Amino acid sequence: MVTNTEVKELGHFINGEIVAGTSGKFSDVFNPSLGAVIAKVPIATKEEVQLAIAKAKAAFPAWRAQSVGKRVEIVMKFRQMMTERIDELIDIICLESGKTVEDARGEITRGLESVDLAISAPHLLKGDYSVNVGGNINAYSAKVPLGVVAAISPFNFPVMVPLAMTSMAVAVGNSVILKPSERVPCSALFISELWKEAGLPNGVWTVINGDKDAVNELLENSVVEAVSFVGSTAVAETIFTTGSKYGKRVTALGGGKNNMIVMPDADLEQVANAFLGAAFGAASQRCMAISTIIPVGEETANKLVKVLADKIATLKVGPYTDPDVDFGPVITKVSKDTIIGFIDRSLKEGATLVCDGRNPDIAKSSNGFYLGPTLLDNVKPGMEIYEQEVFGPARNVVRVNSLEEAIDLVNAHELGNGVTIFTNNGAAARKFATEIDVGMVGINVPIPIPVGYHNFAGWKRSRFGEGHMFGPDQVRFFTKTKTISEKWFEENSESVSTFAFPSN
Ligand code: NAD
Repeated sequence: MVTNTEVKELGHFINGEIVAGTSGKFSDVFNPSLGAVIAKVPIATKEEVQLAIAKAKAAFPAWRAQSVGKRVEIVMKFRQMMTERIDELIDIICLESGKTVEDARGEITRGLESVDLAISAPHLLKGDYSVNVGGNINAYSAKVPLGVVAAISPFNFPVMVPLAMTSMAVAVGNSVILKPSERVPCSALFISELWKEAGLPNGVWTVINGDKDAVNELLENSVVEAVSFVGSTAVAETIFTTGSKYGKRVTALGGGKNNMIVMPDADLEQVANAFLGAAFGAASQRCMAISTIIPVGEETANKLVKVLADKIATLKVGPYTDPDVDFGPVITKVSKDTIIGFIDRSLKEGATLVCDGRNPDIAKSSNGFYLGPTLLDNVKPGMEIYEQEVFGPARNVVRVNSLEEAIDLVNAHELGNGVTIFTNNGAAARKFATEIDVGMVGINVPIPIPVGYHNFAGWKRSRFGEGHMFGPDQVRFFTKTKTISEKWFEENSESVSTFAFPSN
């Protein structure tokens, strides 16, 4: 069983040092596997955020002036240290998020894809050059860093999402301020130590801990040029609106409600195996988790529900210290109660229970925030549990009669993060991929999270603003383009004054 009694007081990471908070206000950080407080994270004041911004601003000119090759050497060193100390980082992720060890390892590995892409910054920063665009004039475009940029991250990927949001920003020459989720601040502080040991100059990387007041200062402060946000849809929309109002470049990724369409020709054994991990992995606390499975045709639905019920009954829920568990607790008691509320109300609305995870065995002997896997059949559009993102292990079956009906259903939902189809029919897969109105699409791939060198973002209300969270689009988001037209006069050459608008 997980044991932990020490309650640590955490700080911020400003100008290369961990510094204590000054507000006297703290938020509890839990070990969700035990339901016990493990740390207290300071809630930053406006003045602390301003200090962090000032230090980041001071560090920017020298960091920008470093050759991109030197900057990338530090990123490479950071990557090497991440891999050398991966077990320590896994422990921290598991302790503060409740993830299983293999899941934590997986998120670090995926996070490192973003670091790898950042290492190719010298190539990605190359600009355009045109010779002799006018009389002896050459023109070129350069991608230059923005200055101080901010990233605000959610609890469910304490390492992968911060790395995805910040690695390229650092490599292309910005000073970066991360405001991690107050529920999982330990991972971000650990990463800060690695950046320091890798040789990143003080002030280029900052972690400011806090809540919405810290975020508001980042959004309103005129020094901050761009804000990258990942979290729930309502907050993403606020961040986009407020950040835009204050003239910032904003990308704000929100929640997801992701569907798996199952065609009658699909192998239901394969489908069920794929669904289990994609739907319940990490206690369903993934923005790309499958929420709803949509079997096409009554016969497919009946068979599929039976296969799923048998397999779900074998899943094991428990603490990360048990290597046999399939998934751990949800992040907080509030979250657990919210998910139970969704299930209770869905039953009143007409859903039927296939598997009931509201009271798993482990919850009888542990204060951890455990829920077992719940599967609800006969869920319909319009029901709360179908329309809203449920960030925990309560999943739905929605029955439809045709592929067209399935596509229309998915397209009508306000969220558009991920979707997948399981079929052996190429024509059906092609129709689906063409007509579906969602940002990240899978064909026989249960969680179609793009690899780090492709762009990642949902559509509709799963993303506000332009830009992606990782992939090459990060270079565009964290740089601005300067276009220079250049001419050198030869000795004794004639200079002519013209009042006409310059043209070739
Ligand atoms: P959250 O929106 O509660 O918090 C995200 C961040 O915003 C945290 O740092 C938090 O401190 C801050 N915050 C919270 N309320 C705020 C407010 N009113 N004003 C300003 N800042 C505020 O999200 P969460 O619960 O930490 O994370 C889970 C959510 O994130 C889910 O909805 C999930 O789908 C989403 N998510 C999306 C993606 C994606 O790529 N689209 C990836 C991971 C998680």
